Amino acid sequence: MNTSESIADRIEEVIGDMFAAFRPYESGATEYCMFYDPKKHSSWLIVIFFSDKNDLTRSLKDGICYQIHKYIKEGLDNHLETTNIKSTIFFEPGHRPVEQEKANDLFNSLLKKIQGPKDPVAFGDKKMCGYCGHDLDNHELLFNKKSEEINMPTEGWIACPAEGCNCFQTWSANYKPDQQTEQEPKKSKFNFLNLLRKK
Ligand SMILES: [Zn+2]
Ligand SMILES: [Zn+2]
Repeated sequence: MNTSESIADRIEEVIGDMFAAFRPYESGATEYCMFYDPKKHSSWLIVIFFSDKNDLTRSLKDGICYQIHKYIKEGLDNHLETTNIKSTIFFEPGHRPVEQEKANDLFNSLLKKIQGPKDPVAFGDKKMCGYCGHDLDNHELLFNKKSEEINMPTEGWIACPAEGCNCFQTWSANYKPDQQTEQEPKKSKFNFLNLLRKK
């Protein structure tokens, strides 16, 4: 078995575990697919599909997607075959492509997403998100309640409120303990990002 095959097997196993672990939450995540072509990109592209668009929007907002993302990343980190690979996880509406042509289209659109500009793009006096092209200031930094055990959240995700947009990014930050006494944020707007190191 060559390395790519054993990596793919391990990724599939981790994704299978994820679906089992998240079944009780009724996230609406139903299918997955993955792409890997080192000639085009060094990253393994993993796509989790939500057949219902509303389920996807809700899961992006309420943190299920973030937890899925975290589960898969940690699962990959925990195995020898996959601990050093690059991977990018996407959340998409619809179903996994079954025809080769559709699969190629999806792969190319995902490549565009990760190869495109990531820094905000100035647009008049506004800034556009480098991922989805919507107004950056409307993006929300979100985090799970659990993180409030310490005063400042240290990681979470970013969601775009534009209708039907599935822009998803994770963020994390390292605060020194003595900086944790600032006011307790519930939901911070995007300018908070200056403090944060994007993964
Ligand atoms: Zn957007
Ligand atoms: Zn965006």
